[in-house]
Amino acid sequence: MSVKSNPFRATLAKMHPYVPGEQPQGGKFIKLNTNENPYPAPPAVTAAIISAAQAGLQRYPDPTASSFRRQAAETLGLPGPDWILAGNGSDEILTILVRAMVGEGERLRLPYPSYILYRTLADIQGADWEQTEFDKDWKLPAAFGEASSDGEQKLRLAFLPNPNSPSGTVLTPDEVLEIAERLPCPLVVDEAYADFAETNCLKLVEQNENIFITRTLSKSYALAGLRFGFVIAQPHRIAELGKIKDSYNCDALSIAAATAAVGSSEWLADNVQKIKATRRRMEQKLTEIGFKVTPSQANFVWCQHPHKSHKEMYEQLKKSQILVRYMDFPEWGDGLRISVGTDDQVDACLMLLAQM
Ligand SMILES: *Cc1c(COP(=O)(O)O)cnc(C)c1O
Repeated sequence: MSVKSNPFRATLAKMHPYVPGEQPQGGKFIKLNTNENPYPAPPAVTAAIISAAQAGLQRYPDPTASSFRRQAAETLGLPGPDWILAGNGSDEILTILVRAMVGEGERLRLPYPSYILYRTLADIQGADWEQTEFDKDWKLPAAFGEASSDGEQKLRLAFLPNPNSPSGTVLTPDEVLEIAERLPCPLVVDEAYADFAETNCLKLVEQNENIFITRTLSKSYALAGLRFGFVIAQPHRIAELGKIKDSYNCDALSIAAATAAVGSSEWLADNVQKIKATRRRMEQKLTEIGFKVTPSQANFVWCQHPHKSHKEMYEQLKKSQILVRYMDFPEWGDGLRISVGTDDQVDACLMLLAQM
Protein backbone atom coordinates (compact mmCIF):
# COMPACT_ATOMS: atom_id res chain seq x y z
CA MET A 1 0.00 0.00 0.00
CA SER A 2 1.37 3.39 -0.92
CA VAL A 3 1.04 5.98 1.82
CA LYS A 4 0.71 9.61 0.82
CA SER A 5 2.39 11.98 3.25
CA ASN A 6 -0.75 14.14 3.38
CA PRO A 7 -3.97 12.16 3.18
CA PHE A 8 -6.24 15.22 3.39
CA ARG A 9 -8.06 17.00 0.57
CA ALA A 10 -5.90 19.73 -0.97
CA THR A 11 -8.31 22.45 0.13
CA LEU A 12 -7.56 21.75 3.82
CA ALA A 13 -3.89 22.64 3.52
CA LYS A 14 -4.80 26.16 2.33
CA MET A 15 -7.48 26.66 4.93
CA HIS A 16 -7.42 28.53 8.25
CA PRO A 17 -9.57 27.03 11.01
CA TYR A 18 -12.43 29.14 12.35
CA VAL A 19 -11.54 30.46 15.80
CA PRO A 20 -14.57 30.93 18.07
CA GLY A 21 -14.57 33.41 20.96
CA GLU A 22 -12.74 32.36 24.12
CA GLN A 23 -14.62 29.88 26.30
CA PRO A 24 -12.53 29.73 29.49
CA GLN A 25 -13.18 26.54 31.44
CA GLY A 26 -12.89 27.33 35.12
CA GLY A 27 -11.94 30.69 36.63
CA LYS A 28 -14.55 33.30 37.43
CA PHE A 29 -14.88 35.38 34.30
CA ILE A 30 -17.61 37.85 33.50
CA LYS A 31 -18.30 36.66 29.97
CA LEU A 32 -19.34 39.41 27.60
CA ASN A 33 -17.53 38.01 24.55
CA THR A 34 -19.78 35.49 22.75
CA ASN A 35 -23.28 36.97 23.01
CA GLU A 36 -24.65 34.33 25.34
CA ASN A 37 -27.74 35.23 27.33
CA PRO A 38 -26.77 36.06 30.94
CA TYR A 39 -30.03 34.68 32.36
CA PRO A 40 -31.02 31.03 32.83
CA ALA A 41 -33.18 29.39 30.14
CA PRO A 42 -36.99 29.07 30.51
CA PRO A 43 -37.78 26.81 33.53
CA ALA A 44 -39.84 24.47 31.31
CA VAL A 45 -36.58 23.46 29.60
CA THR A 46 -35.06 21.72 32.64
CA ALA A 47 -38.31 19.88 33.34
CA ALA A 48 -38.49 18.70 29.73
CA ILE A 49 -34.89 17.39 29.78
CA ILE A 50 -35.48 15.48 33.03
CA SER A 51 -38.67 13.99 31.75
CA ALA A 52 -37.07 12.94 28.42
CA ALA A 53 -34.16 11.36 30.33
CA GLN A 54 -36.55 9.48 32.60
CA ALA A 55 -38.44 8.16 29.60
CA GLY A 56 -35.14 6.51 28.59
CA LEU A 57 -32.63 7.05 25.81
CA GLN A 58 -32.34 3.53 24.44
CA ARG A 59 -34.24 4.41 21.26
CA TYR A 60 -33.13 6.72 18.44
CA PRO A 61 -34.71 10.16 18.53
CA ASP A 62 -37.36 11.44 16.11
CA PRO A 63 -35.22 12.06 12.98
CA THR A 64 -37.09 15.24 12.04
CA ALA A 65 -37.78 16.69 15.52
CA SER A 66 -41.52 16.84 14.77
CA SER A 67 -42.59 18.04 18.22
CA PHE A 68 -40.19 20.95 17.96
CA ARG A 69 -41.26 21.82 14.42
CA ARG A 70 -44.95 21.79 15.33
CA GLN A 71 -44.38 24.07 18.33
CA ALA A 72 -42.05 26.42 16.44
CA ALA A 73 -44.49 26.71 13.50
CA GLU A 74 -47.24 27.65 15.94
CA THR A 75 -45.11 30.12 17.91
CA LEU A 76 -43.82 31.81 14.76
CA GLY A 77 -47.11 31.75 12.86
CA LEU A 78 -45.75 29.67 9.96
CA PRO A 79 -48.07 27.72 7.62
CA GLY A 80 -46.84 24.37 8.98
CA PRO A 81 -43.99 22.23 10.41
CA ASP A 82 -42.81 21.32 6.90
CA TRP A 83 -41.42 24.87 6.59
CA ILE A 84 -38.76 24.03 9.21
CA LEU A 85 -35.63 21.88 9.38
CA ALA A 86 -33.95 21.51 12.80
CA GLY A 87 -30.21 21.19 13.41
CA ASN A 88 -27.51 20.80 16.01
CA GLY A 89 -27.05 24.56 16.47
CA SER A 90 -27.58 27.03 13.67
CA ASP A 91 -23.91 26.53 12.76
CA GLU A 92 -24.87 23.02 11.62
CA ILE A 93 -27.76 24.52 9.66
CA LEU A 94 -25.34 26.89 7.92
CA THR A 95 -23.13 23.91 7.07
CA ILE A 96 -26.09 22.03 5.61
CA LEU A 97 -27.03 25.05 3.48
CA VAL A 98 -23.53 25.41 2.09
CA ARG A 99 -23.10 21.69 1.43
CA ALA A 100 -26.47 21.64 -0.32
CA MET A 101 -25.87 24.62 -2.59
CA VAL A 102 -22.16 25.44 -2.98
CA GLY A 103 -19.89 22.96 -4.76
CA GLU A 104 -16.16 22.91 -5.38
CA GLY A 105 -15.03 25.88 -7.47
CA GLU A 106 -18.33 27.69 -6.93
CA ARG A 107 -18.78 30.84 -4.90
CA LEU A 108 -20.47 32.24 -1.83
CA ARG A 109 -21.04 35.93 -1.01
CA LEU A 110 -21.07 37.65 2.34
CA PRO A 111 -20.97 41.20 3.65
CA TYR A 112 -17.92 42.54 5.49
CA PRO A 113 -17.43 42.95 8.40
CA SER A 114 -19.75 40.16 9.44
CA TYR A 115 -19.76 36.54 10.62
CA ILE A 116 -16.45 34.99 9.48
CA LEU A 117 -17.68 31.38 9.79
CA TYR A 118 -19.34 31.61 6.34
CA ARG A 119 -15.89 31.88 4.77
CA THR A 120 -14.74 28.74 6.58
CA LEU A 121 -17.77 26.85 5.27
CA ALA A 122 -16.85 27.87 1.71
CA ASP A 123 -13.22 26.85 2.28
CA ILE A 124 -14.29 23.37 3.44
CA GLN A 125 -16.18 22.89 0.17
CA GLY A 126 -13.19 24.04 -1.87
CA ALA A 127 -15.36 26.98 -2.92
CA ASP A 128 -14.49 30.69 -3.18
CA TRP A 129 -16.07 33.57 -1.34
CA GLU A 130 -16.41 37.25 -2.12
CA GLN A 131 -17.23 40.11 0.21
CA THR A 132 -19.23 43.31 -0.14
CA GLU A 133 -18.04 45.93 2.31
CA PHE A 134 -20.58 47.78 4.42
CA ASP A 135 -20.12 51.51 4.19
CA LYS A 136 -19.17 53.48 7.28
CA ASP A 137 -22.74 53.83 8.57
CA TRP A 138 -23.44 50.11 8.00
CA LYS A 139 -25.49 50.49 4.85
CA LEU A 140 -25.00 47.64 2.38
CA PRO A 141 -24.02 48.77 -1.14
CA ALA A 142 -26.29 47.69 -4.03
CA ALA A 143 -23.44 45.50 -5.35
CA PHE A 144 -24.41 42.89 -2.73
CA GLY A 145 -27.51 42.03 -4.77
CA GLU A 146 -25.85 41.99 -8.18
CA ALA A 147 -24.36 39.24 -10.33
CA SER A 148 -20.58 38.86 -9.95
CA SER A 149 -18.70 41.63 -11.72
CA ASP A 150 -16.34 39.22 -13.51
CA GLY A 151 -19.30 37.91 -15.50
CA GLU A 152 -18.72 34.34 -14.36
CA GLN A 153 -21.87 32.91 -12.88
CA LYS A 154 -20.25 30.88 -10.13
CA LEU A 155 -22.18 32.61 -7.37
CA ARG A 156 -24.40 30.02 -5.65
CA LEU A 157 -25.38 31.49 -2.29
CA ALA A 158 -25.34 34.78 -0.37
CA PHE A 159 -25.31 35.15 3.42
CA LEU A 160 -26.74 38.12 5.26
CA PRO A 161 -26.63 38.18 9.06
CA ASN A 162 -29.53 40.40 10.09
CA PRO A 163 -29.04 41.86 12.69
CA ASN A 164 -25.42 41.89 11.62
CA SER A 165 -22.52 40.99 13.87
CA PRO A 166 -20.44 42.84 15.05
CA SER A 167 -22.51 45.96 14.31
CA GLY A 168 -25.96 44.99 15.64
CA THR A 169 -27.47 46.89 12.70
CA VAL A 170 -30.43 45.65 10.61
CA LEU A 171 -31.72 45.91 7.09
CA THR A 172 -35.51 46.26 6.90
CA PRO A 173 -37.60 43.42 5.42
CA ASP A 174 -38.24 45.62 2.35
CA GLU A 175 -34.50 46.08 1.82
CA VAL A 176 -33.88 42.34 2.24
CA LEU A 177 -36.65 41.40 -0.21
CA GLU A 178 -35.27 43.84 -2.75
CA ILE A 179 -31.81 42.20 -2.45
CA ALA A 180 -33.30 38.68 -2.74
CA GLU A 181 -35.19 39.65 -5.87
CA ARG A 182 -32.08 41.03 -7.57
CA LEU A 183 -29.64 38.29 -6.55
CA PRO A 184 -28.87 35.57 -9.12
CA CYS A 185 -28.77 32.99 -6.26
CA PRO A 186 -30.61 32.15 -3.00
CA LEU A 187 -30.19 34.35 0.08
CA VAL A 188 -29.68 33.06 3.62
CA VAL A 189 -30.83 35.61 6.19
CA ASP A 190 -29.08 34.61 9.41
CA GLU A 191 -31.48 35.79 12.12
CA ALA A 192 -29.48 34.57 15.14
CA TYR A 193 -30.32 37.87 16.89
CA ALA A 194 -33.74 38.67 15.41
CA ASP A 195 -35.62 38.27 18.71
CA PHE A 196 -33.80 41.37 19.98
CA ALA A 197 -34.65 43.43 16.87
CA GLU A 198 -37.64 45.56 15.90
CA THR A 199 -38.21 43.71 12.62
CA ASN A 200 -37.53 40.29 11.09
CA CYS A 201 -37.87 38.67 7.68
CA LEU A 202 -40.01 35.61 8.50
CA LYS A 203 -42.89 36.71 6.29
CA LEU A 204 -40.62 37.00 3.25
CA VAL A 205 -40.19 33.23 3.08
CA GLU A 206 -43.80 32.88 1.98
CA GLN A 207 -43.20 35.37 -0.86
CA ASN A 208 -39.87 34.12 -2.16
CA GLU A 209 -38.65 30.54 -2.50
CA ASN A 210 -35.04 31.74 -2.62
CA ILE A 211 -35.03 33.09 0.92
CA PHE A 212 -33.82 30.88 3.77
CA ILE A 213 -34.05 32.18 7.35
CA THR A 214 -31.88 30.68 10.06
CA ARG A 215 -32.58 30.95 13.78
CA THR A 216 -30.84 29.68 16.91
CA LEU A 217 -31.84 28.93 20.49
CA SER A 218 -28.34 29.94 21.64
CA LYS A 219 -28.93 33.66 22.12
CA SER A 220 -32.50 34.75 22.87
CA TYR A 221 -33.50 31.42 24.50
CA ALA A 222 -30.33 31.24 26.63
CA LEU A 223 -29.44 27.74 25.35
CA ALA A 224 -25.97 28.05 23.77
CA GLY A 225 -24.92 24.91 25.65
CA LEU A 226 -27.77 22.87 24.18
CA ARG A 227 -26.88 23.24 20.47
CA PHE A 228 -30.15 23.77 18.65
CA GLY A 229 -30.97 25.85 15.59
CA PHE A 230 -33.28 25.71 12.60
CA VAL A 231 -33.95 26.99 9.11
CA ILE A 232 -37.24 28.24 7.69
CA ALA A 233 -37.95 28.02 3.95
CA GLN A 234 -40.63 26.80 1.56
CA PRO A 235 -41.43 23.08 2.00
CA HIS A 236 -39.87 21.94 -1.30
CA ARG A 237 -36.62 23.65 -0.27
CA ILE A 238 -36.73 22.11 3.22
CA ALA A 239 -37.21 18.67 1.64
CA GLU A 240 -34.01 19.07 -0.38
CA LEU A 241 -32.02 20.19 2.67
CA GLY A 242 -33.32 17.13 4.51
CA LYS A 243 -31.30 14.92 2.15
CA ILE A 244 -28.04 16.42 3.45
CA LYS A 245 -28.51 16.29 7.20
CA ASP A 246 -27.42 13.36 9.36
CA SER A 247 -30.31 10.99 10.11
CA TYR A 248 -30.29 11.82 13.81
CA ASN A 249 -28.74 15.27 13.90
CA CYS A 250 -30.68 16.37 17.00
CA ASP A 251 -30.71 14.20 20.12
CA ALA A 252 -33.79 13.34 22.19
CA LEU A 253 -32.83 15.60 25.12
CA SER A 254 -32.24 18.64 22.93
CA ILE A 255 -35.47 18.10 20.97
CA ALA A 256 -37.46 17.96 24.23
CA ALA A 257 -35.67 21.04 25.57
CA ALA A 258 -36.03 23.05 22.37
CA THR A 259 -39.75 22.23 22.14
CA ALA A 260 -40.27 23.49 25.69
CA ALA A 261 -38.20 26.61 24.98
CA VAL A 262 -40.10 27.74 21.88
CA GLY A 263 -43.34 27.20 23.80
CA SER A 264 -42.21 29.71 26.45
CA SER A 265 -43.35 32.91 24.77
CA GLU A 266 -43.89 34.92 27.95
CA TRP A 267 -40.43 34.05 29.19
CA LEU A 268 -38.97 35.20 25.87
CA ALA A 269 -40.81 38.52 25.89
CA ASP A 270 -39.69 39.21 29.46
CA ASN A 271 -36.07 38.26 28.78
CA VAL A 272 -35.88 40.38 25.64
CA GLN A 273 -37.27 43.37 27.56
CA LYS A 274 -34.55 43.03 30.22
CA ILE A 275 -31.77 42.71 27.63
CA LYS A 276 -33.03 45.74 25.71
CA ALA A 277 -33.22 47.87 28.86
CA THR A 278 -29.63 46.97 29.76
CA ARG A 279 -28.53 47.54 26.16
CA ARG A 280 -29.97 51.07 26.24
CA ARG A 281 -28.03 51.85 29.44
CA MET A 282 -24.84 50.41 27.96
CA GLU A 283 -25.18 52.52 24.84
CA GLN A 284 -25.72 55.69 26.87
CA LYS A 285 -22.87 55.06 29.26
CA LEU A 286 -20.39 54.04 26.55
CA THR A 287 -21.23 57.24 24.68
CA GLU A 288 -20.75 59.29 27.86
CA ILE A 289 -17.26 57.89 28.39
CA GLY A 290 -16.19 58.78 24.85
CA PHE A 291 -16.95 55.78 22.65
CA LYS A 292 -18.55 55.95 19.25
CA VAL A 293 -21.44 53.51 19.66
CA THR A 294 -23.40 51.89 16.82
CA PRO A 295 -27.10 51.71 17.83
CA SER A 296 -27.76 47.98 18.28
CA GLN A 297 -30.76 45.76 17.63
CA ALA A 298 -28.99 42.68 19.01
CA ASN A 299 -27.75 41.52 22.43
CA PHE A 300 -24.34 43.16 22.01
CA VAL A 301 -22.95 46.59 21.33
CA TRP A 302 -20.19 47.51 18.86
CA CYS A 303 -18.12 50.43 20.06
CA GLN A 304 -14.99 52.22 18.95
CA HIS A 305 -12.92 54.78 20.79
CA PRO A 306 -11.49 57.65 18.73
CA HIS A 307 -8.00 57.47 20.30
CA LYS A 308 -7.65 54.71 22.89
CA SER A 309 -6.30 51.29 21.88
CA HIS A 310 -9.07 48.71 21.66
CA LYS A 311 -6.59 45.88 22.02
CA GLU A 312 -5.20 47.34 25.25
CA MET A 313 -8.65 47.93 26.70
CA TYR A 314 -9.55 44.32 25.90
CA GLU A 315 -6.37 43.08 27.58
CA GLN A 316 -6.85 45.21 30.68
CA LEU A 317 -10.44 44.00 31.06
CA LYS A 318 -9.23 40.43 30.73
CA LYS A 319 -6.74 40.93 33.56
CA SER A 320 -9.74 41.89 35.69
CA GLN A 321 -11.54 38.70 34.62
CA ILE A 322 -13.89 40.45 32.21
CA LEU A 323 -13.99 39.07 28.68
CA VAL A 324 -15.21 41.18 25.78
CA ARG A 325 -14.55 40.53 22.08
CA TYR A 326 -11.72 42.46 20.48
CA MET A 327 -12.27 42.37 16.73
CA ASP A 328 -9.87 43.54 14.07
CA PHE A 329 -11.10 43.58 10.49
CA PRO A 330 -8.16 44.02 8.10
CA GLU A 331 -8.46 47.15 5.92
CA TRP A 332 -11.58 48.16 7.80
CA GLY A 333 -10.68 48.79 11.43
CA ASP A 334 -11.00 47.36 14.91
CA GLY A 335 -13.23 47.79 17.94
CA LEU A 336 -14.88 46.09 20.89
CA ARG A 337 -18.01 43.99 20.70
CA ILE A 338 -19.52 43.76 24.17
CA SER A 339 -22.38 41.36 24.90
CA VAL A 340 -25.30 42.59 26.96
CA GLY A 341 -24.91 40.85 30.34
CA THR A 342 -26.82 41.38 33.56
CA ASP A 343 -26.88 44.95 34.89
CA ASP A 344 -24.19 44.06 37.45
CA GLN A 345 -21.89 42.50 34.85
CA VAL A 346 -22.28 45.41 32.49
CA ASP A 347 -21.70 47.94 35.29
CA ALA A 348 -18.45 46.20 36.28
CA CYS A 349 -17.23 46.39 32.69
CA LEU A 350 -18.29 50.01 32.18
CA MET A 351 -16.68 51.09 35.44
CA LEU A 352 -13.29 49.74 34.36
CA LEU A 353 -13.61 51.16 30.84
CA ALA A 354 -14.39 54.58 32.31
CA GLN A 355 -11.13 54.46 34.28
CA MET A 356 -8.92 53.58 31.31
C1 LIG B 1 -24.15 32.87 17.38
C2 LIG B 1 -24.37 32.92 15.92
C3 LIG B 1 -24.72 31.77 15.20
C4 LIG B 1 -24.56 30.39 15.78
O1 LIG B 1 -25.54 29.93 16.52
P1 LIG B 1 -25.47 28.47 17.10
O2 LIG B 1 -26.89 28.03 17.03
O3 LIG B 1 -24.97 28.60 18.50
O4 LIG B 1 -24.58 27.61 16.25
C5 LIG B 1 -25.02 31.90 13.86
N1 LIG B 1 -24.95 33.09 13.23
C6 LIG B 1 -24.57 34.20 13.88
C7 LIG B 1 -24.50 35.49 13.14
C8 LIG B 1 -24.26 34.15 15.23
O5 LIG B 1 -23.84 35.24 15.86
